Amino acid sequence: MTYCANASRYGQMQYRYCGNSGLQLPALSLGLWHNFSDGHSLSSQRALLRKAFDLGITHFDLANNYGPPPGSAESHFGRLLQQDFLPYRDQLIISTKAGYDMWPGPYGSGSSRKYLLASLDQSLKRMGLDYVDIFYSHRVDEHTPMEETAAALAQAVQSGKALYVGISSYSTDRTVKMAALLREWKIPLLIHQPSYSILNRWVESSGLLDALEQQGTGCIAFTPLAQGLLTNKYLHGIPEDSRMKREQGGSLKESMLSARNLQSIQLLNQLAQQRGQTLAQMALSWLLKDNRVTSVLIGASRPEQLEENSQALNNLTFSAAELQQIDEHVAD
Ligand code: NDP
Repeated sequence: MTYCANASRYGQMQYRYCGNSGLQLPALSLGLWHNFSDGHSLSSQRALLRKAFDLGITHFDLANNYGPPPGSAESHFGRLLQQDFLPYRDQLIISTKAGYDMWPGPYGSGSSRKYLLASLDQSLKRMGLDYVDIFYSHRVDEHTPMEETAAALAQAVQSGKALYVGISSYSTDRTVKMAALLREWKIPLLIHQPSYSILNRWVESSGLLDALEQQGTGCIAFTPLAQGLLTNKYLHGIPEDSRMKREQGGSLKESMLSARNLQSIQLLNQLAQQRGQTLAQMALSWLLKDNRVTSVLIGASRPEQLEENSQALNNLTFSAAELQQIDEHVAD
């Protein structure tokens, strides 16, 4: 059936300026790392994208290697874009990245000019797009001079194939350096995509968040729910329909559900209930209480999860006592 987006979608979402730029991102963005592979039906993928957009989630985040197989998430997204979202292209922020292994040989990984620009062309082809809104260097490649990566990102913008550029998982020092290099090209570093959650706070301890604010660069936090650990999913064991069970050997390992971690999650869950939130909602609110966090980049296996998570926006305020309890619950 022809898709017609929910007319009230923009009343439900918050939009935040990304650093010092004029671009606003939704407080919640949807990532296609999981649940968009060849193993997932197109109809389940369609349901997720439609639900997201209907909730005002205007930003979809991809990468060249999302699948499996690598590239399949972009191909599926491209099909659904053609079928459902083409009339809404100018209402969408679509990002992709290059950095991890994509094709064999010395030019299929890293952050060389050769790889980044070839990969961007491939991504555009798979998605059937003329341009992406944001193109990222997905990871640091110690062997490539940062000047070369910056020049390639600048060229992506100058050629019109990307409107903005970003970096992911770069250290604080490298982030500051990349911002300076891009400035030489008169191109701002729009955004940084680091991991960040109640359980993983390296962006605070490393000074990255402070540096991003100083540079006028936005921050979009990936795996804000710690891949599902910060939801009610694992409170009473490992369900069959969970990422941990389905993708054994993946990065969400059973060892992460240690007795200590489980206890933390249970205590956090109790606190969330006292706040009138689910654990997932509290985990997202906790990140979004800081305006330097432009957006939280969530994943979802079912549309209902998006419904639940979007209601995090109803309560972004924490008392000092609540913040202290959260810190105590996750302390080693
Ligand atoms: P999350 O931490 O948001 O985990 C999402 C998973 O948690 C879902 O797939 C689902 O898993 C579970 N979940 C979500 N909401 C609920 C809920 N309300 N109740 C119960 N379970 C829930 O993020 P992801 O790990 O999916 O990563 C998000 C995005 O971040 C990626 O798609 C990608 O775009 C980006 N990313 C970027 C990286 C980078 O290097 N730049 C690295 C990793 C991610 P289940 O299947 O168990 O239901």
